[in-house]
Amino acid sequence: MIIIDGKKVSAQVKEQVAEETKALKAKGIVPGLAVILVGDDPASRVYVNNKKKACELVGFRSVEYSLPATTTQQELLDLVEELNNRQDINGILCQLPLPKGLDDNAVIEAISPLKDVDAFHKQNVGRIMIGDYDFLPCTPAGIMEMLRAYDISVDGKKCVVIGRSNIVGKPMGMLLLHENGTVTICHSHTKNLSEITREADILVAAIGKAKFVIADMVGEGAVVIDVGMNRDEKGKLCGDVDFESVKDKCSYITPVPGGVGPMTIAILMKNTLKAAKLQNGIQ
Ligand code: NAP
Repeated sequence: MIIIDGKKVSAQVKEQVAEETKALKAKGIVPGLAVILVGDDPASRVYVNNKKKACELVGFRSVEYSLPATTTQQELLDLVEELNNRQDINGILCQLPLPKGLDDNAVIEAISPLKDVDAFHKQNVGRIMIGDYDFLPCTPAGIMEMLRAYDISVDGKKCVVIGRSNIVGKPMGMLLLHENGTVTICHSHTKNLSEITREADILVAAIGKAKFVIADMVGEGAVVIDVGMNRDEKGKLCGDVDFESVKDKCSYITPVPGGVGPMTIAILMKNTLKAAKLQNGIQ
């Protein structure tokens, strides 16, 4: 069994981004990412801080907008509009979910598709569907990058994704399909889940339930990718996979922390770099 090192692969991706950023800076272009955080959710604060740190590391300019939970929908949309029009901002992301009373979708749709480095805008989602895209959503794209880094081919493999959210499960299924996997997407209405997951050559768990995937749900030699970010009964960070019980059955497994999480941020950097290039007419 091999533990996939997301930290190592993400460091390689960020190094590559930093190299290309240097070359852009020599042309007078500094990629800029605007991060909007509304309210004081502690998990969101940690994610935003990690994104800012990654920007510093690769040489981007990052601008944070920390808004109170009392921010109105219109105030948020006005800020997005201002950022859409700013030349020094190439990527915009709004940390989701927003506090109650604010509409995630309205904000996603307000972000210019050219600056939508999360790839959540309808226009970008549609382009991913037909395989003609500029940006891929960070978490699924990070997983594909990890598979490539470990020479794990998807072609012809049975791929099972648990979870069908717009940000992870659905696009994950699509990216595996683009790489010629045979894809099954499971969700809370799926019958006989364990029977389906046991058949998987590649199993992706994106459920949001601590240690949900146990050894009995995993086939011998499967590649297991754990997207979950949960807290266990002791408050310790853990994934959707019960790592200890599953690890001996797998050929490869991602840990939590140190697996998918760092890759998500690395791809955000890659997308922001690409946005800066596209907005400056550089291919
Ligand atoms: P989500 O929107 O809550 O979606 C969860 C999915 O799991 C839903 O499709 C749901 O099915 C399915 N599900 C729930 N209970 C199930 C069950 N008993 N059997 C089968 N399927 C079940 O969550 P998400 O945003 O996709 O995130 C999933 C996890 O990944 C969370 O822990 C989140 O924190 C983590 N995450 C991590 C990263 C990272 O960078 N590492 C990025 C994003 C998310 P229904 O659709 O039928 O309700």
